[in-house]
Amino acid sequence: MARITLDKVAHSYIANPQDETDYALRLIDNIWDDGGAYALLGPSGCGKTTLLNIISGLLAPSDGRVLFDGKDVTNLPPEKRNIAQVFQFPVLYDTMTVFDNLAFPLKNRGFSKEDAKKRVLEVADILDLTDSLYKKAAGLSADAKQKISLGRGLVRRDVAAILFDEPLTVIDPHLKWQLRCKLKEVHEQLKLTLLYVTHDQVEALTFADKVIVMYEGAIVQIGTPQELFENPSHKFVGYFIGSPGMNFLPCKIDGNRAFINGSSIQIDDRTAKLGENIKDNLEIGIRPLYLEVHAEQVENSIPVAVKSIEDQGSYKIATVRLSGNLLRARLHEKSVIPSEQAWVRFPEDWIRLFHNDKLLTLQSND
Ligand code: ADP
Ligand code: MG
Repeated sequence: MARITLDKVAHSYIANPQDETDYALRLIDNIWDDGGAYALLGPSGCGKTTLLNIISGLLAPSDGRVLFDGKDVTNLPPEKRNIAQVFQFPVLYDTMTVFDNLAFPLKNRGFSKEDAKKRVLEVADILDLTDSLYKKAAGLSADAKQKISLGRGLVRRDVAAILFDEPLTVIDPHLKWQLRCKLKEVHEQLKLTLLYVTHDQVEALTFADKVIVMYEGAIVQIGTPQELFENPSHKFVGYFIGSPGMNFLPCKIDGNRAFINGSSIQIDDRTAKLGENIKDNLEIGIRPLYLEVHAEQVENSIPVAVKSIEDQGSYKIATVRLSGNLLRARLHEKSVIPSEQAWVRFPEDWIRLFHNDKLLTLQSND
């Protein structure tokens, strides 16, 4: 397995890039530990596939170096990098049986027949492909084909890392969940370095120990699902993670109060200190899960107009208006909210401050 270092990697598909916007990857300078399960999460077009292809060697970066366990592999072709890559759409040999497809990556690498068979059977068992091992791949469903592709990535235990590029796109939702769990299981057993690309936050958050969030060719945050949820380092992470995304409200701080247009709420000393000298572009961020909505006035609450309440089955989403700003709150399915006026309370522990789109922390304020 390998520790992957991206040393000042940048990439442009244009021959003479002029400015930042000409770069599909702006500047990536990161080290990913050996044996980790990472998800690379971001919207379509943010550079995920570009980054993955640079790691696997399908693409040479315009700038910077890629190292595996400290060894420079920037100029090595994919076959010399000892990496398995699983693509968005199945890549396999239709005329071969499932068994032969799975055994193929082992054949060229000098595995003995028995050894190869043992591995193929193991992987087939993990992916529930045992019953179709001797069928031709051509006749199988899209799901099954993609499982074979996954299997081809998993049979090799000698790989430095396995890279998955949105591999579950063609798989039906129920099976998706099963396969994600399987991959997690496989990761726990084998301690492979896994890098899993997705634009789906649920997929990323259930699969990975660490999520790498990308936006416009850059990495904006790397963290555990909990870190990304509780302390998104950038407004983009706040919006992109969580359902619905984080609420943001322009504010000004004066003493231990945050003023939001005409209204104000109490904040703790730490938050007050973070925002005290900032005059512009200061915003409160609060997750819908933590914003309280009350039918009656409670301590430190402010009145809001209720715009809508949506029943989502196991929870409700209330949309309220606070002096021109719309806020969303995620509420218990049984909560009863009046249809016109309610009171919101911002629990002090969950108030975050953002300045110029970035989270303020004690360090960033030093
Ligand atoms: P993602 O996988 O996150 O959807 P990509 O890495 O595929 O993003 O693309 C990042 C950016 O690079 C996009 O703007 C895309 O249009 C551009 N791009 C990707 N592949 C090529 C290519 N072969 N030639 C030119 N531009 C490309
Ligand atoms: Mg892609």
